[in-house]
Amino acid sequence: MNYSEVISISTKGETDIINITDDVSRIIKSSGIKNGIGCVFVPGATGAITTIEYEPGLLQDLPKALERLFPKGIEYRHEQTWHDGNGHSHIRASMIGPSLTVPIKNGKLILGTWQQIIFLELDVRKRKREIVVQIVGE
Ligand code: ZN
Repeated sequence: MNYSEVISISTKGETDIINITDDVSRIIKSSGIKNGIGCVFVPGATGAITTIEYEPGLLQDLPKALERLFPKGIEYRHEQTWHDGNGHSHIRASMIGPSLTVPIKNGKLILGTWQQIIFLELDVRKRKREIVVQIVGE
């Protein structure tokens, strides 16, 4: 069996971190699939999907770590192509990745106790995002 749904969100701009765990769980429930895998994917080259312990400290630590690893304000060749000021956004998105696969057992996501699924806005402006959740199983 195969089921798909889209999560529509509006982001507040750069390094907005949105917890989409409840949306993904709701979609799994709607699918009726009890055992299988769920793929959460964002179409777009400046957004990312990953997991985190969704607590206030880490919500500040993650953007700070991204700034240390992939700083703004250094030279990105992307700027010469598009002049859109988001070279660092693209590199961050490539490094974290646009998707996550989660196992589903007895109709529920297998996640750690504090592990939450997040969408991470990496673009330099507010965006509307359509996150695809595709579930395969039985
Ligand atoms: Zn760009």
